Amino acid sequence: MVQTTQRAGLSAKLLSRYAGPCPRYTSYPTADRFAPLQGAEPWRALEDARSLSLYVHVPFCRSLCYFCACNKVITHQYGLAASYLDQLLQEARGYRGRLTAPVVQLHLGGGTPTYLNDGDLRRLVHGLGEVFDLRTGDDVEYSIEADPRTLELDTLDTLRELGFNRLSMGIQDFNIDVQHAVNRICSAEAVAELTEAARERGFTSISYDLIYGLPRQDVAGLERTLDRVIALAPDRIALYHYAHLPHRFKAQRLIETDLIPGPQEKVEMQLAAVSRLGAAGYEFIGMDHFALPTDPLAAAARTGGLARNFQGYTLMPADALVGLGASAISASRDGFWQNQHGLKDYAREIAARGSAVSRGWLLDSDDRLRQWLIAELMCRLRVDKAEAARRAGAPFDEYFLAERRRLQPMFSDGLLREDDATLEVTPRGRWFLRNAAAAFDRYLHGAEATGARYSRVL
Ligand code: SF4
Repeated sequence: MVQTTQRAGLSAKLLSRYAGPCPRYTSYPTADRFAPLQGAEPWRALEDARSLSLYVHVPFCRSLCYFCACNKVITHQYGLAASYLDQLLQEARGYRGRLTAPVVQLHLGGGTPTYLNDGDLRRLVHGLGEVFDLRTGDDVEYSIEADPRTLELDTLDTLRELGFNRLSMGIQDFNIDVQHAVNRICSAEAVAELTEAARERGFTSISYDLIYGLPRQDVAGLERTLDRVIALAPDRIALYHYAHLPHRFKAQRLIETDLIPGPQEKVEMQLAAVSRLGAAGYEFIGMDHFALPTDPLAAAARTGGLARNFQGYTLMPADALVGLGASAISASRDGFWQNQHGLKDYAREIAARGSAVSRGWLLDSDDRLRQWLIAELMCRLRVDKAEAARRAGAPFDEYFLAERRRLQPMFSDGLLREDDATLEVTPRGRWFLRNAAAAFDRYLHGAEATGARYSRVL
């Protein structure tokens, strides 16, 4: 059998060369580099921000999905969530008077934000509205991650009333064997009903999260899931690679390693998804997103307006991001700051000083240059050498001498190409965007390298 990988020019040798651990670059530097700030205050730059993105982390879930790598707490004690909400609002009030920029993007992530009951969802959004300049309408993006197994239709009404216009649902795979293997049973019928109900209520964008590389998954099964997904026509699809890191994420120890597909099969799945979704009219965006041509994300990808943040690809990059809740990360022009990860630590710090910031990063000029360059690679698949040189204050080939040396195998393997003006990712190289970005990561190489453990590319 001539496999799809071979037809796509992806030999087993090539895949094994680039399949190893590598950061996902939702930020640069990556969050594992963050350290105590020692007097640095990257949040000061919030005052100059003209637009704001707000992220709220709600870490509660009712049951454990074995593949999960999120910061979450599995509990049926609703009182924990209610107390946590008090702490979140206290943290939010700490920002009062420090910024006036309108919020152009609000995202509730988790965990399961729809774990909160309707009264507490209202309490949360109204409380945020007392501190931040929340606007509603089509030119702002209010999104929430919903669990289709537990989301009630009444909650959809509440969310619309509060201004939410984007709904993101975790699907992963409709195949029942896969669902059993990861302890997440969810019927396609429930997803179909919620999708229709959300559309009727005026949600303008519906997004599904799928995962490939899960135990018991194979190409044929994934194709069946994709066919059901295509029939429901979500505006966006994120197709994430399952990162098996049982040494870091305890839940994943419940997954039988033998049942996880190998790198070659995972690439077959990726290729099958690109082909099937492409035939259904979806545009392939960045390294793991798909959108219908009518969705603004597809338009942004076509016109160079795509950006990347901690939630993945986005079209609405604000000047600054304020993250609220346990483990939430905030970002400004000057750097990053991250809250305590554990719920108890978060609660203790908020009670003691109104803030739970535990670590972060102050960007220097070289960080900013590489941050821009890595975003260009991940979003536009190319780097304008003249622009990079302007930012570096030195010719591109000179400033990035070591990086270009590091990239030589990727040039030789036809994954990257360059001329005097541009460094560009080839269609084949798109599968290895993370590897290309990693060549420019100062902290992965040389004296500043650490032994951080990342997920595998494949
Ligand atoms: S995948 Fe989502 S619902 Fe499942 S445990 Fe993780 S955060 Fe909770």
